[in-house]
Amino acid sequence: MSVVGIDFGNLQSVIAVARNRGIDVICNEVSNRFTPSLVSFGPKQRYLGETAKTQEISNFKNTISSLKRIVGRSFADKEVQEVEKQYLTAPLVEVNGQLAVKVNYQGQETTFTTLQIFAMYLTKMKEIAANETKAPVSDCVIAIPAWFTDVQRRAVLDAAEIAGLNVLRLINDSTAVALGYGITKTDLPEDKPRNICFVDVGHSTYTVSIVSYIKGQLTVKARAFDRHFGGRDFDRMLVDHFAAEFKTKYGIDVKSNGKALIRLMAGCEKLKKILSANSQAPLNIESIMEDRDVASMMKRTEFEELAQELISRVEAPLKQVLEDAGMTAADIDAVEMVGGSIRIPSLKERIQAFFGKELSSTLNQDEATARGAALQCAILSPSFKVREFTVHDITNYPIKMTWQPTPEEEETELVVFNKNNTIPSTKVLTFYRSEPFDLEAQYADPESIPAGINPWIARFSIKKVEPVNGEPACVKVKTRVNIHGVLSVESAYIAEEIVKEETVEASKTEGAEGEEAAAPETRKVKKLVKKCDLPVVSATSSLDRSVIAELKEKEMEMIASDKLVVDVYKDFINPADKEKFVQDLNDAENWLYDEGDEATKSVYAAKLADLHVVGKPVVERYREVDARATAARELRESI
Ligand code: ATP
Ligand code: MG
Repeated sequence: MSVVGIDFGNLQSVIAVARNRGIDVICNEVSNRFTPSLVSFGPKQRYLGETAKTQEISNFKNTISSLKRIVGRSFADKEVQEVEKQYLTAPLVEVNGQLAVKVNYQGQETTFTTLQIFAMYLTKMKEIAANETKAPVSDCVIAIPAWFTDVQRRAVLDAAEIAGLNVLRLINDSTAVALGYGITKTDLPEDKPRNICFVDVGHSTYTVSIVSYIKGQLTVKARAFDRHFGGRDFDRMLVDHFAAEFKTKYGIDVKSNGKALIRLMAGCEKLKKILSANSQAPLNIESIMEDRDVASMMKRTEFEELAQELISRVEAPLKQVLEDAGMTAADIDAVEMVGGSIRIPSLKERIQAFFGKELSSTLNQDEATARGAALQCAILSPSFKVREFTVHDITNYPIKMTWQPTPEEEETELVVFNKNNTIPSTKVLTFYRSEPFDLEAQYADPESIPAGINPWIARFSIKKVEPVNGEPACVKVKTRVNIHGVLSVESAYIAEEIVKEETVEASKTEGAEGEEAAAPETRKVKKLVKKCDLPVVSATSSLDRSVIAELKEKEMEMIASDKLVVDVYKDFINPADKEKFVQDLNDAENWLYDEGDEATKSVYAAKLADLHVVGKPVVERYREVDARATAARELRESI
C-alpha cells in the first residue's frame, strides 16, 4: 500500500510518496513532476490533468479550472460570482444551492457539482500514484489551504471518498511545509524554541505562518493569509494592461472573446515568468482574434510599476502573523519561502525588507508542500515506520455553540473553540436537561471566514434525555475539532454523581516484621461517572452515505468509459505499429509542451499531418466497423 501526499494546488498539484529511502515526488504520464489541476469533457471521454491542459483553449467551455476555489461552495456565494467567475470558462449553474458546472459530455449536456469535478481530479491523482508506485493507493494526506472552512473540508473528504481515497489527514498546506522542514533538521533545540516564518505565495492564495520548533515537535504559533493574492492576480493585471493596449493599437476587444482572453492570459503568465529572470520580455500571439496577430513587450521596471499596489498587499498578513504570535521580526530565526510566485523579484524584495534579513530557500519551493503531506501520511500510516514528530496545528476561526436555554439558565451560547485553538482538540460541555435538545454550531466571527460561505456549521441533536430521579439530568457533550479541522460531536452521555469510598494512601510506618498491617484508611468522595450513552444525530454539510455511494458508482462508470475509449482502437492497428505510434504520440506531446510551445503554425501542422498518416486510418477502420455495427443494430431493431 502506497503512502501518498497530495498538494492540491490551484494551478497544479504535486504528488509525493514515502518510500523506505525517503520521500519522492513522482512523475505523471508525461514525466512532469506536477499535474495541471484541470478537468475537461469531450464527446467520448473525460480529460483529467495533463490531457485536460490540451483542451484548455480549444475546448474551454467544457474545461474546469480553479478546482480548489470552487469545491464546497454554493452557487450564490459572493466570492464565486464576483471573483472566481472571472477565471472559470465553463458555465456555472446551481444544483440544490450547490455550485455546479454545465458541460457537454459524451454528446450530452451534463451537470456536475464542483464536488464531483474534484472527485474526478482525485481519481486521476490516484491513478498517477498507483501507476508510478505499482501498488494500490488508498491512504493519503491532502494539503489544503489553512483558510478552508468546515464545509470546504467536508467537501474535500467526500470527494476523496468518491475517488476511493482514504484521507488520513487533511493537512493545512503551510503546516505540511513546516513538517517537511522540521523532520529533516537534526539540530533542533531541546528547550528554547526556534521560530521560523513560512511564506507561501502560490497561484491564487498567500499564506504566512510562524512555527516554533523544539526537538521532535512543531507548534504553529499563528497564521495569516490573503486568500486572494497570488500569481493569477499578476496575470490578470497584465491582461487588463494588454487588453487596453490592443484595443487602441489593433482595435480589437480581447475581453469580448472567450478563447482570445484565455490565450492572452496564458501569454501574460509566460511574460511574467520571463520577467522574473530578464529585464524585458516579449508578448506575441498569432491570430488571437479576427485573424489579427498581436505583438508587444514589457520591461521589468514597467511591470513593477504596474504591480506596485498588488505588491504592497504582501505586508498586511506579515504584520498580522507577528502580532498574533506576539513576536517581532527580531524573534524570527529564519524566513522560508515556498510557492511559484515567490520567484517575482520585487515581491521577494518587499518581504525581505519587511523582515530586514535575508530570506532562506532551503526547501524546494514547488514540492515542499507535497513532501510534507507525504511525511504526515507516513507518520500516520500503520504500514510505515518513520521518526516520531508531533504536529500541533491550530484552528483559524472561533467556533461557537448555541442552544435554547432552560428557565434556570441564562447562557444561550459559548465559544467552544477559539481562534488558534490547538487541533485536534476535544472539549466537554455540560448541560442540565430533562428532555432532548439541540446544539447549533457556527463560526463565531462570520466576517473572518471567506465571504459568501454560510457561518453555520452543524446541528447536533442530543436524543433520549430524561430526568434522573425527578431532576434534570447532567448531560455531557464531547465536541471535537478533529485531525482534518472538522467539527463533530463525538459522544454524549448522562453523568451521575455517585459517592465512592476511596482508599487514602496510608503513610508508611516503620513496623516490626510480621506485624499485622492496619486496615487501610478510607474516605467518601463524590464522583461524576458515565451512567449511559445518549444517541446524537448530526446534521452537517457532509453528503449522505447513500449519495456518496451513488456518486462513487457514477465515478466508476466514467472511469470505465474513459478506459474503453483508450482501448477501443487497439484492434484496429497491428501491435508493432501501435508501439511505434504510441512512442511518436508521446514524443509529439513532449515536444508540444517543450519547444513546440514556441513553434509556428506550419511546423505544428506538418507534425500533425505526420501523425495523421498512421492515426487516421486506424480511426477510420474503427468508425467503419462501428458504423456497420450500428447499422446492423438499427436494422435488427427495425425488423
Ligand atoms: P495555490 O497554492 O494558490 O493553490 P499552486 O500551488 O498551484 O496555487 P504554485 O505552483 O505555488 O501555485 O505557483 C504557481 C504560480 O507561480 C503561477 O501563478 C505561476 O505563474 C507562478 N510562477 C511560476 N514560476 C514563476 C516565475 N518564474 N516568475 C513568476 N511567477 C512564477
Ligand atoms: Mg500551493
